[in-house]
Amino acid sequence: MNLHEYQSKLLLQQFGVPTLKGYLAHSPRSAQKACQNLGGGICVVKAQVHAGGRGKAGGVKLARDPQEAYDVAGKILGMKLVTPQTGAQGKLVRKVWVEEGAKIQREFYLSLIVDRANAGVAIVVCAEGGMEIEEIAHNSPEKILSVLVKPESGLQDFHIRRIAAFLKIGNEGRGKLLPVVRSLYRAFLSLDCSMLEINPLIETGDGQFVCLDAKMAIDDNALFRQKEAFAMSDLDEIDERELRAGEVGINYVALDGNIGCMVNGAGLAMATMDIIQEAGGMPANFLDVGGGATKEQVTEGFKLILQDKNVRGVFVNIFGGIMRCDVIAEGIIAAAKELNVSVPVVVRLQGTNVEIGKKLLAESGLKLTPADDMDEGAKKIVSAVKGA
Ligand code: ADP
Ligand code: MG
Repeated sequence: MNLHEYQSKLLLQQFGVPTLKGYLAHSPRSAQKACQNLGGGICVVKAQVHAGGRGKAGGVKLARDPQEAYDVAGKILGMKLVTPQTGAQGKLVRKVWVEEGAKIQREFYLSLIVDRANAGVAIVVCAEGGMEIEEIAHNSPEKILSVLVKPESGLQDFHIRRIAAFLKIGNEGRGKLLPVVRSLYRAFLSLDCSMLEINPLIETGDGQFVCLDAKMAIDDNALFRQKEAFAMSDLDEIDERELRAGEVGINYVALDGNIGCMVNGAGLAMATMDIIQEAGGMPANFLDVGGGATKEQVTEGFKLILQDKNVRGVFVNIFGGIMRCDVIAEGIIAAAKELNVSVPVVVRLQGTNVEIGKKLLAESGLKLTPADDMDEGAKKIVSAVKGA
């Protein structure tokens, strides 16, 4: 689950992480008031959407006084912000965070992520923080340092010394940096984060370290004990189909291609996406109906796939282990009848009750193309979509 910048900052403050004072605003008028409340001087108006790269896209703007905060907020609110992280369709800005303007001396990059391979938390830093971190990672990876912290021994002084030395921060600065990194690390663990990115972490004119931006992702598996964070879910930011899928217990992720996939089991779903690409096609989604899906779930899965206007064909690839092929067949038939499917559908069924399933499909009167294995199925759906 992702949080907005302002939500992440509110949570981080509880752990003593230094951030700047600010207010959330839904209208130019309240942005103006926010600027007044902050003293009426320089403030920064920041679009709140689940995507980085807002600054470059025009979603972060300086205002010198309340009137300018009003004007700037008027421009940002309602805009479709397009950044490298939003996709081409962009994200509608519904709210802005109005924050004190900081006196920036230096901008650093600092993030914490779960490092699964090394069973720890990686603290990643770079002396050139700000807006170009992806390019730096790509072009000059030597400018980035990753320090592994083992949870059993925790964050130690030597970790901070390595970080400070790499960032060319002197002794005095290191003393100031230490409590900030400590509280970020504590917040990361306590909030069950999978990712926490501070870009930039700034050093101010008077030598203090402050988090100017914050991007936080919380492990969905921990949401049962992260009630406060969970209550911050912004449903406007979640793909509607993914939301619906969550309600009926299906794993669905929308992608850019045009071949809808309905598969059971995450591993098979991954393999199906690969094999479609191998055959020259592009999957429109990842969809895992689960090991023991019901007829209703299959119907819902089909609906989700067909709601995607890019879908030009559907590949059903089911291995009936726990799940019986006849149940799948019933689901497909129910969905196809209800939805009036007009795109080609290739069905590969294998496993328990496969003969009954195939018979049901064959007798359904629906135009479905059977396939005996994955490879054949992928080729068939790709050529059907290309031919159409
Ligand atoms: P994004 O990463 O989405 O572009 P940021 O919050 O990092 O958004 O803001 C982009 C840039 O705007 C920062 O790198 C910083 O230079 C500047 N900025 C952001 N907040 C402030 C602030 N409160 N005061 C001064 N400058 C800011
Ligand atoms: Mg940033």
